[in-house]
Amino acid sequence: KLNERVEMEGNDEIGQLSRAYNFMSTKLSHIEKQRRDFVANVSHELKTPLSSIKLLAESLIMQSKVEVGIYREFLIDINSEIDRLNEIIDSLLNMVDLDEEKLNLNYELTHINHIVERIVTSIKPLADNKDIRILINQWEKIQIYVDKGKIYQALMNIIHNAVKYTDNGGRITIHIEREGKFAVIKVRDTGHGIPMESLPFIFERFYRVDSARSRKTGGSGLGLSISHQIITLHQGSIEVESQLNIGSTFIIKLPNDINQQF
Ligand code: ADP
Repeated sequence: KLNERVEMEGNDEIGQLSRAYNFMSTKLSHIEKQRRDFVANVSHELKTPLSSIKLLAESLIMQSKVEVGIYREFLIDINSEIDRLNEIIDSLLNMVDLDEEKLNLNYELTHINHIVERIVTSIKPLADNKDIRILINQWEKIQIYVDKGKIYQALMNIIHNAVKYTDNGGRITIHIEREGKFAVIKVRDTGHGIPMESLPFIFERFYRVDSARSRKTGGSGLGLSISHQIITLHQGSIEVESQLNIGSTFIIKLPNDINQQF
């Protein structure tokens, strides 16, 4: 049994051994709980789009005469639920890869500025669609050793969120600067903001502030936890400051010192 404890006090060897045993036992039951929560979360996230698909398909089957237009509407909804499922599964696979790749980052000397510029170029059509302006503020080119692909993905999740959770006509500003031994990237938006009580959970797997609202914007609640994982693997940090209805700033710090990387 995992959460069993032995009650042996004292400073002799038996006492020390039982304390070590209790410590391991608590840790194991914690890991076991995390595993169960994770499976429950994954199942829930996969079941939600599946139940929508089932409901949509069933209501089509139940009707004897359906206009082509209605068929089309239902199929469009079914299609977007399938997209959601795909997105969730891709994120999950990604996360498993990251767990396994812990010590396998492919460090290369990289211009952080180029990565940010590439992300902004690829996300521009989405931003244009919402009339959101994206500005990059950079005073110098910063080169650091990172896994290019992974950092691209980590920053993409954050910049994509800034576009997703900002209303039409908003603005996103990205600062790139050097701060001591760190390259610092700040992504500021004029979006919905995050309520104070949600801030401690924002980097947890599957956590979403408002699942009804988030569902409409797509996503899986995994993006920020993946970014957090990637940045932590690089021995960097990610923090968020936010005010409801005013906007959010994500602050990413990546170590600049090659010696820290190897
Ligand atoms: P999702 O797939 O839901 O976007 P994330 O892990 O990327 O998942 O983000 C988790 C939640 O954090 C989102 O559902 C959203 O509620 C909130 N969030 C993330 N970025 C922002 C932002 N820039 N502005 C407001 N809320 C945000």
